[in-house]
Amino acid sequence: MSKALPTMFAAGWAPSSWLQRVALQQPQYEDAAELAQATAQLAGLPPLVTSWEVLALKQALAEAQEGRRFLLQGGDCAESFADCTSPVISNRLKVLLQMSLVLVHGLKKPVLRVGRFAGQYAKPRSADTETRDGVTLPSFRGDVVNSPEFTIAARRPDPQRLIQAHAHSALTMNFVRALIDGGFADLHHPEYWDLAWVEHSPLAAEYRQMVAAIGDSLRFMETLAGPIAGFSKVDFFTSHEALLLHYEQALTRQVPRHPGWFNLSTHFPWIGMRTAALDGAHVEYFRGIRNPVAVKVGPSVTPDQLLPLIDALNPDDEPGRLTLIHRMGCAKIAAALPPLLQAVKREGRRVLWVADPMHGNTESTSNGYKTRRFDNIRGELDQAFDIHAAADTRLGGVHLELTGEDVTECMGGARDLSESDLDRAYKSMVDPRLNYEQSLELAMLIVRKSAG
Ligand code: PEP
Ligand code: MN
Repeated sequence: MSKALPTMFAAGWAPSSWLQRVALQQPQYEDAAELAQATAQLAGLPPLVTSWEVLALKQALAEAQEGRRFLLQGGDCAESFADCTSPVISNRLKVLLQMSLVLVHGLKKPVLRVGRFAGQYAKPRSADTETRDGVTLPSFRGDVVNSPEFTIAARRPDPQRLIQAHAHSALTMNFVRALIDGGFADLHHPEYWDLAWVEHSPLAAEYRQMVAAIGDSLRFMETLAGPIAGFSKVDFFTSHEALLLHYEQALTRQVPRHPGWFNLSTHFPWIGMRTAALDGAHVEYFRGIRNPVAVKVGPSVTPDQLLPLIDALNPDDEPGRLTLIHRMGCAKIAAALPPLLQAVKREGRRVLWVADPMHGNTESTSNGYKTRRFDNIRGELDQAFDIHAAADTRLGGVHLELTGEDVTECMGGARDLSESDLDRAYKSMVDPRLNYEQSLELAMLIVRKSAG
């Protein structure tokens, strides 16, 4: 495509043009009229974010591509309507703020904070149906589609849930925005983010030291320069896997001040590994929106597949537009990542490389839990930094599944959780998350790695 035709005017594109392609991972709604009624209602509701914010994030991601910021993207594997509560939302915000404090201090550069929240309600599944005791029902596809209980009624894809997902996303956004605007994220008050564990964690001393050091530098700078506004408020952006295209289409809007189409359900949608086919519906939908977008890249992707995907999603090599989130697995990253880095570098394409050390390291235990070993998560991240350094490319961020709750879903970490600990507090509906302590440990690891 020529330079004169930027992405915002993608040829032959419309918010509904994805319908002409194969759309994987979509539910089978029983009643087309009911679906049409719900999507029409959704299309009339206010958006969740604005084009101004979306473009500001794109600019910040462009700076991350140049090494001037580091992206911290994290949150639940799947949000649930039931967890749309004050403690769950504020604890998740606390752990992300604490991690970003560690990163800012250690990396000496601004951290771009993006939550996996306010819309992370749709999940890809390995099978369309689930069978228990001879009964087969549709798989649970996330709260925006159906409900996890194993009954006919609960598993029926319900279009009303599209409206409920929008409402729960708005409630989440509203609370996060109000907390931040009200001063919760003020760097002068990191004690606002304390979680009960900080008292007794093996990592507490190191964290406290960082908080004290940051407090000292803040006071020093403000003694010289007076209060610095940027420190009392931070930016927070939202992201989710834009999987359920009926939902995304209904929130795809035009606005008076910026040309083109925006997905205003989130600032930063991504395409999951299972739906990233070049000729598939998701790539078709994504190529026409002006948001910054990301794609998950798994170990089977070859340079011959990746380069055309980059062409489709970022034909003009626009800064900040495209993030590639590699999720290879600890055992595969050493072989799978270098050819991709080399190909993208050789072609001179502008992308932000981000590591997701979670999704290539999922396993099942003998007692039936889906888990991840902290050593494998850490091992993949460790290698990711080294592989980028060897390729002379830049790892510009991390993508993590985490929670501010004291869960026991991933094994290992500072408290060395074992298989038998998983029983104690396993709450995830889909993938296992880092608990707050494991999350902070990973942030400290990133800092140590970056220091060389
Ligand atoms: C996820 O991020 O929850 C997910 C399903 O990831 P992936 O597409 O990388 O498997
Ligand atoms: Mn997941």
